[in-house]
Amino acid sequence: MAKKYIPYSTQSISQQDVAAVISALQSGWLTGGKTVENFEKAVSEYCRVPYGTALSSGTAALHACMRALHLQPGDEVIVPAISFIATANAVLYEQATPVFCDVSPDTLLINPEQIKKHISAKTKAVIAVDFAGQLCDYEALIGICKEADLYLVADCCHSLGASFGDVKSGAFADLSVLSFHPVKQITTGEGGMVLTSSKSFYEDIRRFRNHGISLDPAQRHKLHQYTYTIDELGYNYRLTDIQSALGLSQLHRLDSWVSKRRTIAERYDSEFSNSTSITPLTCRNISGHAYHLYVIKVPQRDIVFTKMRERNIGVNVHYLPIHLHNLYRKKIGTHEGLCPIAEESYSSILSIPIFPDLSDDDQQYIIDSLKEITEAL
Ligand SMILES: *Cc1c(COP(=O)(O)O)cnc(C)c1O
Repeated sequence: MAKKYIPYSTQSISQQDVAAVISALQSGWLTGGKTVENFEKAVSEYCRVPYGTALSSGTAALHACMRALHLQPGDEVIVPAISFIATANAVLYEQATPVFCDVSPDTLLINPEQIKKHISAKTKAVIAVDFAGQLCDYEALIGICKEADLYLVADCCHSLGASFGDVKSGAFADLSVLSFHPVKQITTGEGGMVLTSSKSFYEDIRRFRNHGISLDPAQRHKLHQYTYTIDELGYNYRLTDIQSALGLSQLHRLDSWVSKRRTIAERYDSEFSNSTSITPLTCRNISGHAYHLYVIKVPQRDIVFTKMRERNIGVNVHYLPIHLHNLYRKKIGTHEGLCPIAEESYSSILSIPIFPDLSDDDQQYIIDSLKEITEAL
């Protein structure tokens, strides 16, 4: 029996989501309207952070954070070697230099001990990435950044819905970034957000999102003003009301989706607990993990990858260490050997499907296939 392709992650869209988008289309405001503000308010309240600014993507949100730090050419920003490329690209967008830091082998989260070795007079910030949805060790990171007088930026694109004690993902750092790409916890199609408790960062980011214009269109409309000042180069990084309507509607289901993801992860954990060849990454604390990805280490990963794909299972690899991409080799001279743990981990990591609508039967098929394939190696 040929199985339908099972992706590693995908969105869930309900009739309510569809109705919310239709209603936004009929509201008279396609962009720059109240729905964007309502979405910003809802997400920032959920994360218990004072200020949220919606942007056109998570990448745009990261870029906005780098601009808010007023980086100068030659300034350095420490980033983990394992993340999506956008984490480091955002540093390049502002002509600063990413400095790659190695990760812990059991979690692939940035290793706080390693960060200290990379701090120089030029270091301005650290970007922490909640890889796979697991919160970083923010206590350690905040301590290091305080001591060295660095900004802490959190790339929470994987971890919306995770928490540590009373503190939600998005509330630990000076600036935190979310993504609403379809594979992430909730979606707006494309979209992102910056969360902060600094009014000054918040205002900078809102100007940056809108060409550097000092008043947003709604404010200008209300004040009957046609003039505005522009003091710096900005972008059009706005999110639309149509997208925000989808995001708002999705947000209602976030908690139930995160708990569904955890249930799926716990089943994988228990199924693989006595396997000698399948090693899941370590989960430090289930409430601190939103399971955007479920990552295992396996021997002969490329063979396992191919055989799983042959069975129509959408396994993937997250990620090639960023410093091994040609862009970084050419641009800043990175090379093999820079982050040995990341590089060694890369050869064995595999992301297997996890998303709220993954059925029990499909999960069983994934588990059985993986066991069969690895046992036959
Ligand atoms: C998805 C993602 C981004 C970028 O988000 P987009 O919305 O796709 O631009 C940044 N960092 C990480 C870790 C991501 O997974």
